[in-house]
Amino acid sequence: MTTSYSSHCLPAQQQSWHTYPVEKTLEILGSDAQQGLTTDEVEQRLKHYGINEIQETAGRSNWEILLDQFKNIMLLMLIAVAIVSGILDVVELQNAAAPKEGVPFKDTIAILLIVILNGVLGYLQESRAEKALAALKRLSSPKVQVIRDGHRIEVDAPTLVPGDIMLLEAGAQLCADGQVIEASNLQVRESALTGEAQAVHKHKINPGLAEDTPLGDRRNMVFTGTEVIQGRAKVIVTRTGMATELGKIAQMLQLVETEATPLQQRMGQLGNVLVSGSLMLVALVIAIGVIQAGWGQLQKLVEVSLSMAVAVVPEGLPAVITVTLALGTQRMVRRNALIRKLPAVETLGSVNVICSDKTGTLTQNKMVVREVEILGSGFQVTGEGYAPIGEFLDTDGRAIAIENYPELQVLLMACALCNDAQLTQQGQEEWKIVGDPTEGALLALAGKAGFQQQALSHHFKRVEEIPFSSERKRMSVICWSGNWAIGDRLAESLSLKAVSYLMFTKGSPELVLDHCQFYQLGDRILSLTHEQRQQILQMNNDMAGRGLRVLGFAYKPLEAIPEVDSAETIEQNLIWLGLVGMLDAPRPEVKEAVAKCREAGIRTIMITGDHQLTAQAIGKQLGIIQEGDRILTGRELEKLSQSQLEEEVDRVRIYARVAPEHKLRIVQALQKRGKFVAMTGDGVNDAPALKQADIGIAMGITGTDVSKEASDMVLLDDNFATIVAATEEGRVVYNNIRLFVKYILGSNIGEVITIAAAPLLGVPDVPLTPLQILWMNLVTDGLPALALAVEPADPNIMRRLPFSPKESIFARGLGSYIIRIGLIFSIISISLMIWSFTQARQVGNPDSWKTMVFTTLCLAQMGHAIAVRSSTRLTIEMNPLSNPYLLAAVAITTIFQLMLIYVEPLRRFFGTQFLTMEQLLICIGFSTLMFVWVELEKLLIRWFLSRKRAS
Ligand code: ATP
Repeated sequence: MTTSYSSHCLPAQQQSWHTYPVEKTLEILGSDAQQGLTTDEVEQRLKHYGINEIQETAGRSNWEILLDQFKNIMLLMLIAVAIVSGILDVVELQNAAAPKEGVPFKDTIAILLIVILNGVLGYLQESRAEKALAALKRLSSPKVQVIRDGHRIEVDAPTLVPGDIMLLEAGAQLCADGQVIEASNLQVRESALTGEAQAVHKHKINPGLAEDTPLGDRRNMVFTGTEVIQGRAKVIVTRTGMATELGKIAQMLQLVETEATPLQQRMGQLGNVLVSGSLMLVALVIAIGVIQAGWGQLQKLVEVSLSMAVAVVPEGLPAVITVTLALGTQRMVRRNALIRKLPAVETLGSVNVICSDKTGTLTQNKMVVREVEILGSGFQVTGEGYAPIGEFLDTDGRAIAIENYPELQVLLMACALCNDAQLTQQGQEEWKIVGDPTEGALLALAGKAGFQQQALSHHFKRVEEIPFSSERKRMSVICWSGNWAIGDRLAESLSLKAVSYLMFTKGSPELVLDHCQFYQLGDRILSLTHEQRQQILQMNNDMAGRGLRVLGFAYKPLEAIPEVDSAETIEQNLIWLGLVGMLDAPRPEVKEAVAKCREAGIRTIMITGDHQLTAQAIGKQLGIIQEGDRILTGRELEKLSQSQLEEEVDRVRIYARVAPEHKLRIVQALQKRGKFVAMTGDGVNDAPALKQADIGIAMGITGTDVSKEASDMVLLDDNFATIVAATEEGRVVYNNIRLFVKYILGSNIGEVITIAAAPLLGVPDVPLTPLQILWMNLVTDGLPALALAVEPADPNIMRRLPFSPKESIFARGLGSYIIRIGLIFSIISISLMIWSFTQARQVGNPDSWKTMVFTTLCLAQMGHAIAVRSSTRLTIEMNPLSNPYLLAAVAITTIFQLMLIYVEPLRRFFGTQFLTMEQLLICIGFSTLMFVWVELEKLLIRWFLSRKRAS
C-alpha cells in the first residue's frame, strides 16, 4: 500500500540509501514496488524536490567565451590597424593648421566597433549554438519506463521523483539514482562516474551495505549518468537532479559539444593565410613606395597599408557561415533529422555509403504474424495490426480448433509468457503495444487463440529470465508451472519427478533448434531426427524467402530453478515447438529513397540481425540488392580477416545475421576503401560503430540512450528516407557555402589590388578608407551573401556523385574563380580610378574619384551576386523570384549605397563625395561589366563543355 505524504514530511534525498534494505527504502519513500506512486503524489513531489535535471556547469565563464572571440588572428590584425590609424590621426591633428573636417578618429572608432561587434556576435552565436544544441539534445532526451498508478508507462526523465519505480533494460541511460528492488542479470557501466570501464553487476542486497562502502562497490544502487549494458531491473528512485551522485560532481559532466565544422576550421586557416599574405603585401607596397617617392610619402603609404589590411579580411564571412549551418540544422529538423554534432550538417552531403538497419528503418516495424508451422502442419493466420482478433486456417483455408493441437497450444503459451511487451486497447478499436513490436505481434497471435498474457502470467508466474540480446538472438524465461494440466504426463515422458517450472525459449530458429533435443507431437515428446531438423530448417528458409521474419520456439519442463548464471547450460535439451513467421512490410517511401541514393552515387547497404533470406526478400523489394551483389552472413564475416573483408566489402549489399560488433568491422573496412560512411544503430552495442562511422545515426524512437549519445544525428522517425533527405540538405548547405565564399572572397581580392595599385600608379591618395572597406565587407558583401545562403536546392543536386569530404573548399575551380574575379574587379575599378581621377579635377570635385571607385566596387558586387547563383545557367534563364531574398538584399544594399552618397550626414561620416548623375551613370556602367563578365564566362563554359562532349 502506498503511503501518502504531504509535501512537508517528504524525506530528504540525502540519506545513505545503500545501507537500507530495499523494503525500508520503499517505506521511507512511501512507495510501492507494484503500484508505484500516484500521479498526484508525483506532482506534489515534483514541487517539493524540483525537476530532475543536472544543471550543467560551463567549463568556461561567459568572460572567457567572450575573450576567446578575440583570439582570432584577423580580429587582432584589425585591432592593430585601429591603433595605428589612431596614431596617424593624432599626428595629423598635431600637424594640421586648421581643424580637420568630419569626426576625428572615426576609422579607429569604426574598426574598434566592428571588432567589438564581431566579438559580441561571435560570443552570442557561440552561446546560442551551445543552447540550441543543448535544446536539440533535450529533444532526444531519455524517456524512462516507470510504474505509476499501477500501470507501466513511459515518462520524460525530468519528471522523475524520489519514490518512482523505474524499469530498466539494456541500453537505458540512468537518469536518477536508485536502489535495486529486483534485477535479472543487470550489468551497468559506471565509467562516467567511477572511471571504471568494466560493467558492474547490480542486484538486490539485503540488509544493505556498510555506510562507508565506496561508490563503485554499491552493488545495490544505480546512479545517474551510467548505462545499462545488459539485463533488466526494477529500481526505486532515491535521488534526483542535483542531489544525485553525478549532480554533486556536475563539473564531471560532459559539456555540450560545439565542435568547429571542417569548414570553420578551414576558415581559421584561411585567416592565417590572408593575414600573412596581406602583411607581405603591405611590406612590398611600402618598400616600392619608399623606393619610388622617398620617406616623405611614408604616412600615405602607411594609410594605404591600413586600408589593405582591412580589405583583406572577409569580416562578414564567419557570421554568414554560422547562420548557414544553423539554418541547415533547422531545415534538417523539419525533415526529422536531428543534428547532434554541428560538423555533420556540412559533411552529410559527402556521404557515399549508407549502412542501414532493416527492422524499423527500411521496414515499418509493424509486425503481424502471418504463418505458424509446427512439425507436420502449417497454418495461415488472419487479422490485421496488433488486434488479437483473427483465425488460424489450415492449408485448405478452414479455421482450425486450437484444442486439437496441444503443441500449438504450448507454442502460443510461449508467445504470451516469453514476452516483455504489453498489449493495450485504446478506445474501441485501436490496439497498441508497449515494447518490442516483434513481441507485440506474438501477444496478438496468442490473443487470437484466446491466450491472454495477463491471465496466463498470473498463473505461470515468471521466476527467472535470460534477456534477449542481439548477440544471443534469443531469450528465455522460467515460469512456475502451477498445476499445469499436462505437467504430470510430461514429467513421466521426460522421467522427471515432477514438473514445477517451465522454461520457454524463443529466438532465431537456427539457434533455438541447435539447442533442441526433442519435439512435441500432440502431447507426446519425441527425439528430433536429423531429417526433422533439415525439414524445420527448410521451412524456416521458405518462410524467410517470402520476406517473413521468423522466430523459433522451444520449451523445457524443469524440476527446480537452475542457476541462471550459465545461460548456455540451461538452454539445452529443449523441446522444439515450431516456427512463427511475421510480416514487417517495407516502408513505402524507402524504395524511392534507395533509387534516389543510387542516382546520387550513394550505396545503400542493409545490415540486419535477421535471416539472410528475409533480408534478401526485403532487399529485392526495395532495390537494394541486384543481380551479382553479395550477401554476407555474420558467420561468413567472422571467418574473414580484416584485409579479406576489405576486399569483399565493395560487392556486399546485405549483411545478415550479424551481431553489433560486426558493424564496427564493416565500417572500418568501408572506410579503408575510401568510403565516407553513414551508419545507423539503435542498440547499446552499436555505439562503437556509430562513433567510428563518419556520420553515426541513432534511432529516435527505438534507439537506446547510449546509441543516441554516440551519434552525430538522430532520426526522429527512424526512417531511412529521412537519412536521404538529410543528405540532400547537407549537399544544399555545402553548395551554398561554396556559393557565398565564391561571392565574398573575389571582392576582397579586388579591393586589395585596387588599393595597392593606387600609389604604384602615381595616384596621390588612398581610394578607399578603412571605414568604407568595412562597409563593403559587412554590408554590401554580407547582406547578399546571407541571401545566397538560402539559395534553393539545385534540382539536380541528387543526380551527381558526392564530393569528397577531404576536398578543399577551393577545389573544383573555386580558388581560380576567386582569383579571376578578383582580377576582373581590380581591372574594372583601376580603369575607372585612372579615368575618373583625371576627370574629377575638371568637374571641380577633386576627391569624387574615390567615391566613384567605392560605388563601382559596391555596385559591381550587386551584379556579381545576381550572376553568381549558377555557374552554367544564364541569369535570364533562372527564375529571379526563386530566391526573393537575394533580390531584396541587392535592392536594399543599392539604396544604402546611394544614401551614403546623397544623404549629407552619412556622406560626412563615411567620407564620401556628392556624385553628379553623369558620374553615377559611369559607375553603373563600369560595374555592369562585372555582371557581363560572369555571364560571358558561363557561355564560355557551356561552349567548352559542348565541345568536350562532341569530341
Ligand atoms: P535490424 O534489422 O534492425 O538489425 P533485427 O530485428 O533484424 O534488427 P535483432 O533485433 O538483433 O535484429 O534480431 C535478430 C534476430 O533475433 C531476429 O531475426 C529474431 O530471430 C531474433 N529476435 C528478435 N527479437 C527477438 C525477441 N524479442 N526475442 C527473441 N528473439 C528475437
